[in-house]
Amino acid sequence: MGAAEIISFEEVRARKQWDTLRQALHTRFDEWLDRLEIQLPGAAPTLAQVTETMWNLRQALTGGLTETIVKHTQRGEYTRPQTSCAQCGRLLTAHAHVARTVETMVGALQLERPYFYCRVCRDGVYPLDDALGLVAGCKQLDLQHAAAQLVTEVPYDTAQVLFRDLTGVPFGSERMHTLTNQVAENLTVVDVAPSRSEIERRIAEVAAGRFRRPVMVLGIDGAYVPTRPDSARIPGDGRRGKRARRARWRGQWRDAKGFRFYLLDGERIVHVLSWHQVQNEEQLGEALKLVKEASVIPEEQVRLCVVCDGAEWIWKHVQALFPQARQVLDYYHCAQYLHRVAKAQPDAFREAG
Ligand SMILES: [Zn+2]
Repeated sequence: MGAAEIISFEEVRARKQWDTLRQALHTRFDEWLDRLEIQLPGAAPTLAQVTETMWNLRQALTGGLTETIVKHTQRGEYTRPQTSCAQCGRLLTAHAHVARTVETMVGALQLERPYFYCRVCRDGVYPLDDALGLVAGCKQLDLQHAAAQLVTEVPYDTAQVLFRDLTGVPFGSERMHTLTNQVAENLTVVDVAPSRSEIERRIAEVAAGRFRRPVMVLGIDGAYVPTRPDSARIPGDGRRGKRARRARWRGQWRDAKGFRFYLLDGERIVHVLSWHQVQNEEQLGEALKLVKEASVIPEEQVRLCVVCDGAEWIWKHVQALFPQARQVLDYYHCAQYLHRVAKAQPDAFREAG
């Protein structure tokens, strides 16, 4: 008898489990079909009419199926009679079943799970939530990641409209703002930097067919940027949904500092890495140091050149981290300085002019 013919007990059990789940999914699908039957437009609908109906019902289907899968794969947690307190180790008995709705990219899921409470530690726990890796609030991680991606590209109000239209899930711009701050707090320049191999690939592309190593520019500068103050979070007067859509706060201008690495490819600029934050020069120096220490920039493969205005704090960091780099005072700032000197000492420039 060949090895392939032996079916283990585990496999039989797994097969049975899958058959049970499949049955439950079919039932769920049938329930959804009942809803579809009612909402599907009459005889000979256009494609647009059909897709609109499907679009509106799609999350009821995918969310419902997901809910069924979760219920099946975590059935031990749904019926769990006891658990032990994480703090004191006491054995706790299920208090009650509490309903919770969570929102995901594929739709909403209803979870009715046992609640355990330790009277000694005065702390409650939902083991199912932990097993599923749920986060606080109804919007789960997949939605949060999608929203965070969107708000880094477009303004909050635009993000809110786009998010609702594309995902079918409403996401308030306030929530998006709070969320982005939470995500951004834990990000460093290394998290947003491309990998060293990706940067090497970009360098190789620019270097192809050329005798000399490509020029990589590190540009450092500070600028004033408008920000959204925390006071914007205070809700306005009037009933919900009736409030003026206009922003109720004034953007505060703050000093942002940052840097950017890019490659020169003839007239073209090839972006490599950028990091701009509302930060002081010490934090900027720290960020540059992180880039240096992560060695994502293959310095030996390029001719590094630093372009910035004459601010002393910038040169201090450059000198410490990239002493080999060619230092260039950018043309506009240079012209500005010359102009000032010329105004102050006209005689010195009369000969040259
Ligand atoms: Zn306890």
